[in-house]
Parts: sequence; structure tokens; C-alpha cells
Amino acid sequence: MKALEVLLGYGCNEKCLFCSQEVSWRRRPGLPFSLVAEQLYRAREDGFRSVCFTGGEPTLRPDLPKMAALARKLGFTYSRVQTNGVKLAEPAYAAELVAAGVNFFRVSLHGHTAKLHDELVLVPGALAKAYRGIGNLQRLGVGIGINVVLNKRNFRELPALCEEFLDRKFANLVLIYPLFEGDMVAHEAEMSAPMSEMAPYVRAAFKIFEKRAQPLPRLLNFTPCAAPELAPWMLSWSAHSAFVVDGNGKPVDLYMASHDDRVKVEACSRCRLNEECLGFKRNYGARFPDERLDAVRTVAADAALGDTNDTRVLARPKRATGRPSALDLIARAVFPVPESGGDSPLKVERIDVFLDEASLCIEEKRSQWELTHA
Ligand code: SF4
Repeated sequence: MKALEVLLGYGCNEKCLFCSQEVSWRRRPGLPFSLVAEQLYRAREDGFRSVCFTGGEPTLRPDLPKMAALARKLGFTYSRVQTNGVKLAEPAYAAELVAAGVNFFRVSLHGHTAKLHDELVLVPGALAKAYRGIGNLQRLGVGIGINVVLNKRNFRELPALCEEFLDRKFANLVLIYPLFEGDMVAHEAEMSAPMSEMAPYVRAAFKIFEKRAQPLPRLLNFTPCAAPELAPWMLSWSAHSAFVVDGNGKPVDLYMASHDDRVKVEACSRCRLNEECLGFKRNYGARFPDERLDAVRTVAADAALGDTNDTRVLARPKRATGRPSALDLIARAVFPVPESGGDSPLKVERIDVFLDEASLCIEEKRSQWELTHA
């Protein structure tokens, strides 16, 4: 289903130490309702039926229920809110969003105890409110997913966190390796740990889900060499999982990572996944050069990978020469440019992603404009 992602603004009521956005961006204005409405209309005309409202923290926008109601009226059948869950502790607010048409909430929880979560997001009482919010959503019967950003403080707690979340019937889990961007850079001494250190705890988490017969978590921003047997559950490590390759056959992260954001190392050439894998995030490779090489050897030495075990090795179809012929619009993102606003006009960027299904070639069209009215 074609997916529209609308980043409403960068304002937030938490201050996560690992946030990939910068606190200074929070003062910037968000997208005005009129522009969000216009983009929703356009997206529906282009056949989109899925929308995600994100931020920052989208529940800080008083007009979020109005946006969700408009999306439903226009015919969007999947409406998701990406949130820290704090505001959902108010039963009337949770019910208002659901009544307006939101049918899936992805809530960010980074610890299973108040001490762990609240001290990571720098808001006392945040976990208790998010738990109450999720309880409200459970009673309303909507879809719920949980995002956990792994970091130096919480990764060893992952097995206990999984047990607690499953006890609470939070089964749809995405475990995210942090990006070395935004505030994460300012706090990396206390937040960062290499994937190889996290991998045993991630494996333990998977075992818990298996033992309790629950759908396995998904992993974001991990490379397969961190835990090769978990590659089938990793997102965005290959052009197939990200499902985006530009017109030159170069992989593009659908979530707006730059084209040049990934690096390969010499040892990748010996890796069984080299053809499919996008490589390491550049900022990761710069921070963990030794880790990177160790990890590569692990995979490169595993001759059986993809042949005899369950790891999914995807064969990328050969690209047709020349430009793709018929392109389908598959995704769109609209967001305020963080550096704009204040005394200068608000700049807005839109990314349209087109796919040629036959060749799996992707074209990405970016347009940026200034809003002179709100
Ligand atoms: S290609 Fe390189 S980064 Fe990707 S899984 Fe293999 S060793 Fe890791």
C-alpha cells in the first residue's frame, strides 16, 4: 500500500538522550494544517491509502484529531500515529484520536522500569503515563506497536524488558539501533555501544519471543553481520527490505537517509550478503572501525549463510539498462526543513519515491518550497 509519512514538526515533550533530531530544531514551526490538508488531498488523488503522522511528538499538535478525521474522510484506511504515548494517558484524548480514525499507534518505550525509561527520556513519570496510554488503546481495540531504541544503558535489560512487555501483551516490537545524529552525538559517551555488544541480548530477546510463541521482533539499522541468523527480521539492510533503489541502481533509505550514508569495507567483498547489503551507516563505521572489521569476518567466514540455514538471501534482479520506463509512486514524505523558520520563512520538503516494479529501480524526486503563509 502506498504510504504517506507526514512529519508535523520537531516539538516534543521528551528529551531522549539518543534522539536523532536536535533540541534546537524544536523551536521551529511545524507544518500548518492547511498544508497537511493539501498533501492529504494530493496523496489520495495519487492513490495513497496509508498515512503516518509523526514528529517530534505529533500529539502535541491540537489539530492532530482534525487531521486524522480529514484523512479518514478522504478515504485513508490505515492511519498511524508515531508517539511517545504520554498524552495518550488521558483516556478522552486516546478515544478522540481513535474516533477520528487513527487505527494504529506506534509507541516509543525505551525501558520497562520507570528508572530506566524516565531517565533516558528525561521526564519523570513518562513510563507510567505511556503504560496508561497503551492500556487506554488496548481497551479501544486498535493496533499497537512498540519501538525500543537500544543504547548503552538499556541493551543489557532487553530480556527483562521483553518479558515485561509480553506480560503486558505488547507483542509488536521493533528494536532500533540508534543513529549517530542529532542529540545522540552530544550524548554518545553515555549512550553508544557497538552492535556486537548488543547482539547477545538481541538474540536472548528473540529466544524469549520464540519461547512464548509470539511474533518475532523486527530490527532496524542493524547490519546482518551483527547477527546473521536474524537477518530475515532486519529492516532496511538491503535494497529489498528498504525496497528503494534509485535510478542508477543505488540503494536509498526510504526514511530519508542520504544516498551517501552507507559505506562498505574491503572485507564486505568476501561477505555472502555483499550484493544485497547496503553496508554500514557511515557514522557507525567511523565510530567502531575495529568492531566493523570483526563483524565482517564473522559473516565472511560463514560459508553456509543463505544456503543451509534459514537466513533469507535475496537475489537482486539484474537492472534493466537505461532509465526505467513505467514508474509507480509508492511513498511520499512531507516535512518541515529543520534549519528553516524563526525569522525566515518556513521551508517544506517533499520526497516522492517511484518504483519500477519490473527492474526494482527507484527514482526519488525531492521538491522544496517556502511557505509564505501559514
Ligand atoms: S556486506 Fe558488509 S556490512 Fe553487509 S552484512 Fe556483509 S559484512 Fe556486514
